Amino acid sequence: MSPEEPHPARTAAPAGAHAGHRQDHGAEAHEHSHLDPMDARVRALETLLVAQGYVEPAAVDRLIETYETRVGPHHGAAVVARAWADPGFRARLERDATAAIASMGFGGRQGEHMVAVFNSPQEHHLVVCTLCSCYPWPVLGLPPVWYKSAPYRSRAVREPRAVLADFGLRLPETTRLRVWDSTAEIRYLVVPMRPTGTEGWDEARLARLVTRDSMIGTGLALAPGDLARGDAAGGPGPAAGPASSGGAGTP
Ligand code: FE
Repeated sequence: MSPEEPHPARTAAPAGAHAGHRQDHGAEAHEHSHLDPMDARVRALETLLVAQGYVEPAAVDRLIETYETRVGPHHGAAVVARAWADPGFRARLERDATAAIASMGFGGRQGEHMVAVFNSPQEHHLVVCTLCSCYPWPVLGLPPVWYKSAPYRSRAVREPRAVLADFGLRLPETTRLRVWDSTAEIRYLVVPMRPTGTEGWDEARLARLVTRDSMIGTGLALAPGDLARGDAAGGPGPAAGPASSGGAGTP
């Protein structure tokens, strides 16, 4: 981490989505305010930036709309599916994830320096931003609330296995856990293991197995059977949330 390095596009960050590392240091409680200290700071910053003419509210709205509707985990799922289906692409993703992801048309702010980490039976990867909420926007969209929560940020490094259990994920003791701390400079994409029983599937079909959480490392890719059940129930879809209500984001 380099807290002195400004986040790219800090001024244009959607309110509450990512206002930078420094907001976490020395945040003071605002007396007589119904807002929590973080919301109050974001609100105050936004008001100042608009008043000074640095930020145009309509532009911020467009940005938020983009990341809420157009950009999302379906981009990351397409990347993972291609890595599963195409060994050449997988090798490029391993060598230079930013370029490989850009070759699929995904790039931009918060995704300038991507690193892909690959799960295997021997090793499972988990991504966190211990200081704030750095997250690979171009492939995953905006981070879920629990990703930004203090409990997840601290526990993911202290007791990753317990955090995974909160998400309903129990890995064999023999699987080594590696936790990656995102920064303003480097964002990580977890490539989950390809589920068995998917031989011969095309990329579009494979992508439906790739959940958002599996690309953060708090989940696995769905099994073909899960997909059938999900279709019947109208969910869970690629952006499903934490598996348990008492998840890592709950204090
Ligand atoms: Fe961060």
